Amino acid sequence: MKTNTMVMIPGPTPVVRSIQDQMGREIQAFGDPRFVKDYQGVIDDLQELFACDGTTFVVAGTGTLAMEMAIANTTKKGDNVLIVSHGFFGDRFIEICTRKGLNVDVIRSDWGKTVPLADLEKKLSEKHYAAMTVSHVDTATGAVADIAAIGEMMKKFPDTIYIVDGVAATAGEYENLKEMNIDILFTASQKAFGVCPGLLILWANQKALARRASLGTIPEYYVDFDKWTPVMKDASKYFATPAVNLVWALQESVRLVKEEGLKPRYERHLKNARAMQKALESVDLKPLADPDHRAVTLSNLLYPEGVEDAKFRAAMLEEGVIVAGGLGAYAGKMFRLGHMGNIDINDEVAVLGVIERVLNQCGHPVPYGKAVGVYLEEMAK
Ligand SMILES: *Cc1c(COP(=O)(O)O)cnc(C)c1O
Repeated sequence: MKTNTMVMIPGPTPVVRSIQDQMGREIQAFGDPRFVKDYQGVIDDLQELFACDGTTFVVAGTGTLAMEMAIANTTKKGDNVLIVSHGFFGDRFIEICTRKGLNVDVIRSDWGKTVPLADLEKKLSEKHYAAMTVSHVDTATGAVADIAAIGEMMKKFPDTIYIVDGVAATAGEYENLKEMNIDILFTASQKAFGVCPGLLILWANQKALARRASLGTIPEYYVDFDKWTPVMKDASKYFATPAVNLVWALQESVRLVKEEGLKPRYERHLKNARAMQKALESVDLKPLADPDHRAVTLSNLLYPEGVEDAKFRAAMLEEGVIVAGGLGAYAGKMFRLGHMGNIDINDEVAVLGVIERVLNQCGHPVPYGKAVGVYLEEMAK
């Protein structure tokens, strides 16, 4: 019998039944008062949940478009931008910014670590930056940045827009614009919100909106805040067609998030992640990220000596679990396992069981039940 396939990559993440059901609903016109109410409700809920005093944008597109949107609305050609890169997705901002004609400085950490706060502060003191980007969790490394501490430090640099890429973090790691002094935060629907791919969510506070206003007409059209703001304030207005079923799916996801609460949701992710990481280490899969900087949304695991990447991942798929390969210098040396969103303890037990079977098939014998046992012990605490 063919097993079901669990999608355990760092996005798209598993979509629970109640969210899936929204994708299959009969379409409504975007001007239908019933849809307008739903769309407005999602936008307003997200605005409140993340403590945004500006505008929350829910727009068709992916996380990459949100990166472009953040830059487009806060910088103009010739401006200096500081990119804090902890890996592959941090680096993606470099091309987005250089294509726009921005002067880019990059400050990097080794993969699995994060840039020390003091180094950041020093860099920011050296010249004026219009904006600074930080990925909260870089999906390539599984390391998490201390965005709250960075936000506190940013109070010394009030002219620099603090942009946080939350694509692999938001609704898993804890985030709050006001408490953390974040000017722009964004994510995409398919990560910790557990919705199908296709929507970006971007929060811009008053400071970011003031920056947008100071720029006049910008070259970009679809991602211009000014085009979308009227729609976000009154969802009966039209600029470009909303992704109706995705908005409903997000509405259901946001309902689940609200029911759980953002902080308890983070605590659930934290407990699960630490239990998973301990369980995986017990079968010789070592997380790349420093113990002090491990994300709660995913783990990037280095193979033990002798386990071959292509064979391991093909066997995982055969047994019913898809995991992602390593990126950059870690291609072939590790795999990436998502554990974010609306997954539960039973999903994780299944995943760990498959990992145990596959390690045994790949010439790295481990006792059956070892990782599962460690995980269940931790979760019972
Ligand atoms: C996935 C991801 C992106 C890109 O999002 P897409 O939806 O694939 O465009 C950007 N940043 C981070 C941190 C991500 O994990």
